[in-house]
Amino acid sequence: AARVELLTVGDELLRGDTANGNATWLGWRLTEAGAEVTRSTVVPDDLDVIAGALGEALRRADAVIMTGGLGPTSDDMTREALAGAAGVSLHRDPGVERRLRERAAERHVPLRPDALRMADVPDGATLLPNPAGSAPGLRLSLPGGVVYALPGVPSEMRAIAEASVLPELAGAVVSACVLRTATIWESVVADRLAPVEAMPGVKLAYYASPGEVRVRIEARGADRLAAAQEAARELLGSSLYGAGEVTLDRVVHGLLAERDATVAVAESLTGGLLGGRLTAMPGSSATFAGGVIAYATPLKHALLGVPEELLAAHGAVHPDVAVAMAWGVRERLGASYGLAVTGVAGPEPQDGHPVGTVHVAVADSGGAVATCSPALPVPADGERARAMVREMTVVH
Ligand code: ATP
Ligand code: MG
Repeated sequence: AARVELLTVGDELLRGDTANGNATWLGWRLTEAGAEVTRSTVVPDDLDVIAGALGEALRRADAVIMTGGLGPTSDDMTREALAGAAGVSLHRDPGVERRLRERAAERHVPLRPDALRMADVPDGATLLPNPAGSAPGLRLSLPGGVVYALPGVPSEMRAIAEASVLPELAGAVVSACVLRTATIWESVVADRLAPVEAMPGVKLAYYASPGEVRVRIEARGADRLAAAQEAARELLGSSLYGAGEVTLDRVVHGLLAERDATVAVAESLTGGLLGGRLTAMPGSSATFAGGVIAYATPLKHALLGVPEELLAAHGAVHPDVAVAMAWGVRERLGASYGLAVTGVAGPEPQDGHPVGTVHVAVADSGGAVATCSPALPVPADGERARAMVREMTVVH
């Protein structure tokens, strides 16, 4: 793929008066066309700075796309900078001059002497027709690579780029997809996907949030992407819960709805976060029955019927307590499933259990089972650990 650098010119971009929409648009369209955008630089309306930046970009990239500074005013100096960097002179192009005069006549405006600067072209440059305005774009092939200079006005820049630049820089189209996993750590996801990472023409990126990891798979060509995605699905197994924009809430809601089932929650360390998450989606009344927050240990008995002897013997953080909570809430709220969580959010250990010890239990008509996630890997910092343990518990 062509390695392309962007060089956007204008004081207004540096001052923050104008958002750099040209760089955003070019980055998007070039990537979509299969080119690789390797750097984007913003420079002021300063001849030496523009020429210097252009020279540097040409040493690194195959192509440089400049925008801005092609207009008629004294602050427009891209053509001079381009000629300077190339070591060539400017000549006045008679065809462009004629068109400028014609356009001015059509609009019944006098042609200011300044405006003829737009007809100045570096020797050896090709003109790129501008269907949307006066100043044509320029293409100049240099030993280091090819330079495209386009007007700053976004509509003109886009029109010229679509017609004359993108077709020349297009490569094999890059396709991408996002897979979503829950309950496994980012480094574990990366370990499992090592064989996919090794596939030629495939690139992976990881985006982690507590309990969840999104994996972006990028591949040159749709067939490659399909093969990479299939391999990744197999390697991720049941940790994979969806792809694209789908969320965990939506998947859980969908699975319950499919079975015509409801869930009730009994929460300790999450203090309502679990119920909050399960009711985040519109339409959750079809699948969420309700919940009990039994934070204080005695309430686990009083509200959920967890046997007092169990609590006396083990404290609140125990798989049997989670099971009894799940069973109790299912029965009391009349739901298809009872879901319970109890554990240590921190920052201090509790009853000898380290921060991050969490028991999750599910009860259905057949009984109840508990899974334990002892000592989820959490950051050392207490306050952040607490938030992460609670968030990860909800995801588990
Ligand atoms: P003109 O003939 O209008 O002078 P030009 O090629 O000299 O065009 P500039 O003077 O740099 O371009 O900018 C013209 C207009 O385009 C300005 O309104 C400017 O804010 C806008 N513009 C310039 N560069 C960008 C950019 N990178 N992203 C978005 N808008 C831009
Ligand atoms: Mg200008």
